[in-house]
Amino acid sequence: MASVEMRNIVKKYGDGYPAVNDVSLDIADGEFMILVGPSGCGKSTLLRMVVGLEDITSGDMIIGGKRVNDLAPRERNLAMVFQNYALYPHLTVFENIAFPLRLQKVPDDEVRRRVNEAAEVLELKEHLERKPANLSGGQRQRVAMGRAIVRDAEVFLFDEPLSNLDAKLRGQMRTEIARLQRRLGITTIYVTHDQTEAMTLGDRVCVLRKGVVQQVASPRELYEQP
Ligand code: ADP
Ligand code: ADP
Repeated sequence: MASVEMRNIVKKYGDGYPAVNDVSLDIADGEFMILVGPSGCGKSTLLRMVVGLEDITSGDMIIGGKRVNDLAPRERNLAMVFQNYALYPHLTVFENIAFPLRLQKVPDDEVRRRVNEAAEVLELKEHLERKPANLSGGQRQRVAMGRAIVRDAEVFLFDEPLSNLDAKLRGQMRTEIARLQRRLGITTIYVTHDQTEAMTLGDRVCVLRKGVVQQVASPRELYEQP
């Protein structure tokens, strides 16, 4: 687990108005932070700067007390969970979860141990030999999270993970994510424009507008506002 501290983060694309304009935000160890705001307010840009997929124009990005501005994505201990889950259709659940460990050439017996541990937490043990096509949407989401857990990621990042799903599945997934995050307690940054997700999932909600933090508050505080 790790805290995420953003100090006066600015991102300019070319000469235009900054996409992210002096954002400072502290996310505590184990906290679930929601980023909301209208399209174009800078949510994805901010997330990509946390992951290291986008250069920071100025400011400091500090993860687990360490400045990471100049670290490549693979040098940061983060896991991004994508909208479409990005599972490999031809691989079993086991191999999908094991994938990052295979890339790191982790020995077979350790891969087995760590994948089984992740599958235990995620209640996927009976499904390890199945292919993604034979899983429910909820199970697929858990496989995607398994791949994140297996490499001991310190921070989870979600970019609108549910926006392609129908309303029923979206409701189920919301419950799944809430349950898992409570259980794992991993620091999470979650981008959404869905009001319900923002109000039910987050410990706190950060409202962005035109690249600026407008407000950071608990869902309850936001709800009780006039
Ligand atoms: P979202 O609002 O869901 O983040 P966008 O449509 O804004 O999606 O962006 C989709 C992709 O296009 C992103 O990778 C983003 O970096 C890129 N993009 C967005 N706006 C511009 C732009 N003005 N010039 C170049 N690329 C852009
Ligand atoms: P959001 O995720 O909140 O929709 P983005 O971070 O995608 O917002 O975009 C913030 C602003 O930066 C927008 O004005 C968008 O057009 C611009 N932008 C995003 N990506 C790029 C890019 N690769 N090149 C130029 N402008 C971009």
